[in-house]
Amino acid sequence: MSQRIDDYINTLLLNEVSVSELDRAKEILFSSDELMQILNSPSVSPEEKSRVVSEIFSSSVKPVVLGLAEKCRAESICEVIEAYSAVLDKKNRIARATVVCVNEPNAQQLRGIEEFICKEENAGSAKIKVVKDESLIGGFIIQIGNKQFDRSLKTKITRIKEKIVDDARKASSVDTGNIISILKSEIRDYDFETSGEEIGTVTGVGDGIASIHGLDHVMYGEIVIFDCGIKGMVQDIKKHSVGCILFGSDSEIHEGTRVKRTHKNAGVPVGDAFIGRIVNALGEPIDGKGEIAADEYRLVENTAPSIVDRKSVSEPLQTGILAIDSMFPIGRGQRELIIGDRQTGKTSIALDTILNQKGKDCICIYNAIGQKASTVAKLVSTLEKNGAMEYTIVVCSTASDSASLQYISPYSATAIAEYFMHKGKDCLIVYDDLSKHAVAYRALSLLLERSPGREAYPGDVFYLHSRLLERSSRLSDELGGGSITALPIIETLAGDVSAYIPTNVISITDGQIFLESDLFFSGQRPAVNVGLSVSRVGGAAQTKAMKKAAGSLRVDLAQFREMEVFTQFSSDLDEETKAGLSYGKGLMELLKQPLGKPLSLAQQVITLVCAIGKKFADVPINEIKKLQGELLEYFEDKHIGIINEIETMKDLDDKLKADILKAFDDFRKVNNG
Ligand code: ATP
Ligand code: MG
Repeated sequence: MSQRIDDYINTLLLNEVSVSELDRAKEILFSSDELMQILNSPSVSPEEKSRVVSEIFSSSVKPVVLGLAEKCRAESICEVIEAYSAVLDKKNRIARATVVCVNEPNAQQLRGIEEFICKEENAGSAKIKVVKDESLIGGFIIQIGNKQFDRSLKTKITRIKEKIVDDARKASSVDTGNIISILKSEIRDYDFETSGEEIGTVTGVGDGIASIHGLDHVMYGEIVIFDCGIKGMVQDIKKHSVGCILFGSDSEIHEGTRVKRTHKNAGVPVGDAFIGRIVNALGEPIDGKGEIAADEYRLVENTAPSIVDRKSVSEPLQTGILAIDSMFPIGRGQRELIIGDRQTGKTSIALDTILNQKGKDCICIYNAIGQKASTVAKLVSTLEKNGAMEYTIVVCSTASDSASLQYISPYSATAIAEYFMHKGKDCLIVYDDLSKHAVAYRALSLLLERSPGREAYPGDVFYLHSRLLERSSRLSDELGGGSITALPIIETLAGDVSAYIPTNVISITDGQIFLESDLFFSGQRPAVNVGLSVSRVGGAAQTKAMKKAAGSLRVDLAQFREMEVFTQFSSDLDEETKAGLSYGKGLMELLKQPLGKPLSLAQQVITLVCAIGKKFADVPINEIKKLQGELLEYFEDKHIGIINEIETMKDLDDKLKADILKAFDDFRKVNNG
């Protein structure tokens, strides 16, 4: 029903026009095409219309017809009469209902139904329309407005069937004894539902969006179920219709399809059994390993922990990547953005971090958003090969999934992480990547007819990511001390970090690791840009050992970069500058790290102490990586005491430092000799 008809009905109500007068007007209007044309034509002046109308209609009906022609179109009179009489009935406490049944009810049954309707609607009397439908098999359905009371045999049988199928799927076999027991219990407890269901109808569908009429009390974010079994989530509530995003194909949904409310907000099943599994955005398994036993059902959208519920970040989450752990340390509960152009090793950093959590009591969740299924499959196989699936959950919405699924998948993944966080566990969650998430949300918003803003993203795109990333935090000891560390990934175009989505996410997170194409292609991998990367809270979480070992690394590298720029055109350099340059190059070389080779804390500390102690100064650049490998092996062999001391004390005193440097000298002697 449009706003214009609404307005027109209000004027009818004010003038207390009767339905019979409207009916008479309708008859006359539909008897003459010419009259209809004159009234609808914009080129006929209002005076002329008024003259024609006064010739044909009685004076009491004349303003009604003129108002109709002015406010709506003349042929909408049928709709107007329908809506107007409904409004009048409501005013006079007359309930309207339709009874769908197999056989016409007798007078006594009708009286019972009327009584029920009056009670339900708190009305004085009821107008009942009886519709016959043999497909119900038995029983009946009462529809009052958009409420439905289903007491038909057909629905009951369908429910029993669903239950049997569901049980059989859970038990992964069909057991006749089981079926008989279900049937027995269903027949014993045979009871029609007494509460009504709110039913709406689809008025339009397309591009994964359906608009629905009739769900007057539906909540924002509520899940609704279409007749064909597809689920949707309400994302837009207007006066006369609601907009709903679909979690499945819309091919079976058409105009008139019925929609049921579930009274539940979107949520996912969660539980310990999810570890090691691959699920879609709705928490359903997609790895073919059967059902997952859920312990709880958690809402997809949850509020972030409040300030008093939080504790500051103080424990490190080691990535195993020297360039990151030494200069941009990440703490448990921190949100560190990984940002860079396409193919610069963003996913690799996240993946290496997951691999490095082995045996560190940290549950990892990898959330793929809008990626190729083949890329995800490759990543999962790497995880499996390294035994990382034992503590990892993959929440996957691939590029072929609908925009709605891509939109909710990071929230679902976070809901699963929150389950573990509230149990006192530490979690690491990787969102790969949030640029595609923003694009999926933009598609949905445009289809829901929200106005586009900068780069055509809707106005609330900042809130889209801030409400997601705020949920990553470290809980206070009273709440178990669990944490979620987030590694969101953002893809930039031609290194442009000042685009809309990158700036948003940079300002939401606690720091960023900026990966650069030039570095990547020059062989400096991981391609971390030391100047533009930062970690704002991780310093507090860095171990003392690492802090002392890394000491001047950032400053040294900054000096090296400046020196490199100044000296690139000059040929004759003094010895000091030459030494400075080769020291810097050596550091850069040591920061290179191949895939899947995480370094432990002790290995990182030993490397850094030797490097900053300028022990690699006389080693040719192309031999540094080899020497580093041999050095670490040597320590493993001969100086396990030093390694253990670093790992247990997590501190570095002058004596330990001297021991490491001395061990290096011994190693060089053995190595050279
Ligand atoms: P996309 O934009 O496609 O998501 P990405 O930025 O996630 O790409 P990756 O897929 O992680 O990049 O890496 C791209 C390629 O670079 C891969 O083939 C990977 O093997 C290689 N690569 C990444 N890091 C390293 C590294 N440290 N050493 C060697 N190769 C690497
Ligand atoms: Mg990637």
